[in-house]
Amino acid sequence: MKPALMFSRIAVACTALCVLATLAQNSPAQEAHGIAVANMDRSVRPGDDFYQYANGEWLKHTEIPPDRIDVNVFTKLADLSNKRTSDLIEEIAKSNPPAGASSRNVADLYDSYMDEAAIEAKSLSPLRPHLEAIAAIRDKQELAHALGETLRADVDALNNTNFHTANLFGLWVAPGFNDSDHYNAYLLQGGLQLPDREYYLSDSEHMRKIRAQYQTHVAAMLKLAGFSDTDARAVRVLELEHAIAQTHRSLADNEDTNKANNTWTQADFAAKAPGLDWTEYFRGAGISQVASFIVWQPEAFKGESALVASTPLDTWKDWLAFHLIESYGGVLPKAFVEERFAFFGKILSGAQQQRPRWQRGVFVVDGFLGDVVGQLYAQRYFSPEAKAQAQAMVANLIAAFRQRIEGLTWMNSATKAEAEAKLSTLYVGIGYPETWHDYSNFEVQRDDIFGNLWRGDLADYGRQIARLGKPVDRKEWSMTPQTVNAVNLPLQNALNFPAAILQPPFYDPLAPAAVNYGAIGSVIGHEISHTFDTEGSTFDAKGRLRNWWTAEDLKHFEAATAQLAAQYDSYKPFPDLSVNGKQTLAENIADVAGISAAYDGYKASLAGKSAPTQDGFSGDQQFFIAFGQNWGAKTREAALRQQVMTDPHSPDEYRAATVRNIDAWYTAFDVLAGEKLYLAPGDRVRIW
Ligand SMILES: [Zn+2]
Repeated sequence: MKPALMFSRIAVACTALCVLATLAQNSPAQEAHGIAVANMDRSVRPGDDFYQYANGEWLKHTEIPPDRIDVNVFTKLADLSNKRTSDLIEEIAKSNPPAGASSRNVADLYDSYMDEAAIEAKSLSPLRPHLEAIAAIRDKQELAHALGETLRADVDALNNTNFHTANLFGLWVAPGFNDSDHYNAYLLQGGLQLPDREYYLSDSEHMRKIRAQYQTHVAAMLKLAGFSDTDARAVRVLELEHAIAQTHRSLADNEDTNKANNTWTQADFAAKAPGLDWTEYFRGAGISQVASFIVWQPEAFKGESALVASTPLDTWKDWLAFHLIESYGGVLPKAFVEERFAFFGKILSGAQQQRPRWQRGVFVVDGFLGDVVGQLYAQRYFSPEAKAQAQAMVANLIAAFRQRIEGLTWMNSATKAEAEAKLSTLYVGIGYPETWHDYSNFEVQRDDIFGNLWRGDLADYGRQIARLGKPVDRKEWSMTPQTVNAVNLPLQNALNFPAAILQPPFYDPLAPAAVNYGAIGSVIGHEISHTFDTEGSTFDAKGRLRNWWTAEDLKHFEAATAQLAAQYDSYKPFPDLSVNGKQTLAENIADVAGISAAYDGYKASLAGKSAPTQDGFSGDQQFFIAFGQNWGAKTREAALRQQVMTDPHSPDEYRAATVRNIDAWYTAFDVLAGEKLYLAPGDRVRIW
């Protein structure tokens, strides 16, 4: 998940969190270790609006803090995690570790970020040599070299649904589609600063206004960096980005792995994507020795390469300069930081104030040295008992999922055997990884935040390049223990459940089984289900991209998933903006299958006994309410619009409405035909 905005498979925007006292934090129901009854609005019929029923009082009494774009269970836990991480960083600094130790680097990186006086004193000097290098570019060959020098390992298509970068292209090093035993090089589209191609191409009034404000922002950033004639330059930069956006693949198409499996040798680039001097590009990127790449979006490589040839050199130089300034704007003097926040924070996300600097400092440490702090975090905040309990729950969920597969009447035995093989070889990481990332190639200097970020990105890039061709470690993690999230890694056939999500209100050892299965159980089930969503089901037990389905079974699967896509297409968070059923399909499948498996796991855990009631709610009711309360959220309009357009997850209220596909929910709440969420039994989507 990228540090700026988490695109993990389960939640979005987990970097935002609330310190506001909410009902959930104060309610006696929470202290009583069960569902938060005080958060519910029992005047709403569950069959009409289950989201309001489960969260209505909380929604009424919760305000989004001025420095946040949303408030929800994930953000609440992320606040806790950030505070703990900050305390650990402070302890590390106090222990005065020796030079060269990874803990010394944590302390120095954090200090260098916090030292605003030093940043102001340096003014533009960290930028200057880079801007001078761009100004010195004389021709398209030198341009190609300079573009190559911007390549970083800053995309992650499958674990992070991060399909593009602000640089011209992005590198992802991961197990190969066709050889999952070795690390391969994937190349992905790039070149845009706005969140997605739609921001450039959409014709809506809303988007036209954002583009005008963006153009003003581009000019302002260039002006701060000392450029002249900035309005004209901004027009040309925006025109170029618009042209780049036209070559980009949409998010929904990016999620189709079968369209992404395109192996190009170095020689193929010149033939298939003429325009850019590819030899010079790869030389600039330091990867001339890499024989072949998997090119995720061939049409974007063709289009962007042609634009390098057809667009004037000076426009590209302005584009390079602006992208450099934008990428490092967060660690430049205050005027840059404020200009960036005014556009990306206020206009694009709706936040009113910046997050406190110490919190942003924690994000920087998490992004560049996350495992150093993570190791301490896991020792301090995740006990062996908690790990054993979580492992037992995962085992129950996998068993429930296995039973569901065995019981599928529409699937033939050959396909079932392949699915079973995936399930039995799934690696499930709980709490923290077995080995930790090594950051020893990252040189940190106490007084140089700009240089630290520059070197940190290059160190990460170098580590990724060094892995190419090496055997894959299937147990490697893609998240830190202090991350409030969970992830399915399809090329490794693996799951990660970090320590920070395995705590109340998701998981409380003192809560009834109904509540734990409804809350964390549905999260665990969701991640297991990604193994078999539209994307996961294209990979076999070894993580290879291979169709293991019989034709009839695949046809049934596609029909059922099309029905689910249509269900989500009908949701309209804004009059001018609907949920995209295709873009969110994999996540919605995981939600439906995840809650189904969690329900089975919960029933099995009762071992025939009846569940205890809480405040008059039956065990089944508690299970579904706990699930609905996972999704209680307040999100600013700008951020929600951004999510609908750029995120594979549906907005929270529709995720809560997943229950309408589950028969047991109808029984638990006596939901009847005519109520708004009611679906006739034949219209309820059952996939796994
Ligand atoms: Zn997911």
